[in-house]
Order: sequence, then C-alpha cells, then structure tokens
Amino acid sequence: MSRPVKTIVVVGAGTMGSGIALTAAQCGLRAVQVDVSAAQLDKARGYHTKQFARLVEKQKMTADEAHAAASRLSYGADFAAVTDADCVVEAASENPDVKKKLFRAFAETFAADTLLATNTSSISITDIATAAGARASQVIGMHFFNPVPVMKLVEVIRGLATSDETVARTLDLARAMGKTPVPANDRAGFVSNRVLMPLINEAFYACMEGVATAEDIDQIMVLGCNFPMGPLRLADFIGLDVCHDIMMVLYRELGDAKFFPCPMLRQLVTSGRLGNKTNRGVFEYSR
Ligand code: NAD
Repeated sequence: MSRPVKTIVVVGAGTMGSGIALTAAQCGLRAVQVDVSAAQLDKARGYHTKQFARLVEKQKMTADEAHAAASRLSYGADFAAVTDADCVVEAASENPDVKKKLFRAFAETFAADTLLATNTSSISITDIATAAGARASQVIGMHFFNPVPVMKLVEVIRGLATSDETVARTLDLARAMGKTPVPANDRAGFVSNRVLMPLINEAFYACMEGVATAEDIDQIMVLGCNFPMGPLRLADFIGLDVCHDIMMVLYRELGDAKFFPCPMLRQLVTSGRLGNKTNRGVFEYSR
C-alpha cells in the first residue's frame, strides 16, 4: 500500500496551477506552488490571499481555517527542493516539449512512489509518459477545470503504461480535493476539449463573418442553449492562447481542419489579447 497524498507540488502558477494549489491547501494538503516566473508566483500569492479573504467574508471558512490553509501553501522556483512530495501536478504551458522536459526532470527528482500527474487539456498522456522513462506507470492525466475551486470535475486519463495503483491513488486524491473524477481515454483533447473547442472555434468564425456581434453570439448561446456563459466569454476565461494551443494539438493529432484555429482567434493571440488574464481578449475587462 502506498502512502496517501499529503504534500503536493504544483508546477505552473498560472490560471490553473494557482487554483489547484489553493484547492489543495483548502482541503488540508500541504501545497508547494512552483513557477519559473517570479512575477507569476507573486500573482498566485496575491490571488490566494484575496480568495481566502473572500471565503472568510462569505463565511465559507473561519479566519482560523483560512490562516491554517494559507500556512499550508508555500512558493518557490525549484520543485527539486521538495523532497517529500507525494504528488506533483504539472500545470505549465500547453506545449508538449515543455511538459516532456518537466516529466524527464520529475522522474529524476521525486521519490519512487510519487504520483506524476499532468493537467494537460489535450496532449497525449502516453506521449508525456515516455519522458518519464521507467516511471511511466506513475504518470496520469488529472484534468481540472477553471476555476478550480468551483468546478467539480476532474477528467482522469490513463496512458498506455499507467498502473491501476496510480489510477486508484489519483481517484482518491481527486475526491480528497472535493472533486468528482470521471475517466476518459487517451485521445487528443479527451472528452471535454474535443467537444468544446470546435464549438468555441465556430463561435469565432461566426463573429469574424459578421453573423452577429460577439455580445449577441454569446447571448444567443446563453439564452437559447442554456449555456451558463457564452462561448466567446468562455474562451477569454480559459485564455485565448490556451485555446489556440489546444486546437493546434487537436488539429495535428486528429488531422481534421475543423480544429484549426480561426484567423480571428489567431490574430487576437498574436496581438497579445489573451482574454481575462491580460484584461482584453474578445471582450475588455477591468482589473
Ligand atoms: P497559464 O498560461 O495561465 O500558466 C502557465 C504557467 O506555467 C505560467 O505561469 C508559466 O510561467 C508557467 N511555466 C511555463 N513553463 C514552466 C516550467 N518549465 N516550469 C514551471 N512553470 C512553467 O496557463 P493555464 O491556463 O494555467 O494552463 C496550464 C495548463 O493547464 C495547460 O496545460 C492547459 O492546457 C491546462 N488547462 C487550462 C485550463 C484553462 O481553462 N485555462 C483548463 C484546464 C487545463
């Protein structure tokens, strides 16, 4: 029997990593937030402080509970410093080279029974696991959703070499973090993004072709299809760069032109309008 996860390292302190670390700390785990960017680490720390204050204000946590959760969080540039990690969750950029380089290093760094999870939205788990060499059986997809503290789903994806024990530990961890794990097979984009990204891409085409304004496209999908949020606003929320990268993985892996990112989306990404995280994407946002 392997030990339960008590200490988790979250590599990448962006939209997803900061949410995963926050949720882990809230659920009683010790969470170490790692990023190559000091600015991103500062941003994550600021986000955590603000979220704890909000939870206390809304009486979802007492001040003592928030203080205890905050003290379970720490920040650093080097995951190798965390020698007692039970699990590492990689939430760095959606780029196969970046992820494989990290998993090569994880396999060399962490103890033999450390769970090696990736929050990738679309990249093959089997492919990422090749970088972990003999540790491939401990590599698994643990796909959280944005915003992590709110969204209940974790898509759990096993690669070809993932062991039953790794799957069982991942299901336990997801539940310990208050989530509902649902399995999906290792195909590009799994279920969620295979279905969602063509919808978002089509909304960009409709906007680009002037079928309706961006606001009206979203309103039509909210009021007519009962979506909680329109597809263009959701794209801003996910990050237009992240949507673009996911579509490129789907396009390359599945070979269907419908996944190729719409020119309007590509142009926004090129111009640095990435959505909520840059305060400007399809729509504008105040800080
Ligand atoms: P993001 O751009 O907000 O953050 C990525 C972070 O990774 C940045 O802070 C960057 O500095 C850091 N990073 C890059 N290379 C690194 C390295 N080698 N070591 C440590 N840190 C590194 O991206 P995000 O939206 O948080 O997405 C992260 C991952 O989660 C991606 O794989 C993405 O596909 C996936 N994901 C995103 C969403 C979403 O809605 N944004 C949802 C589910 C999954």
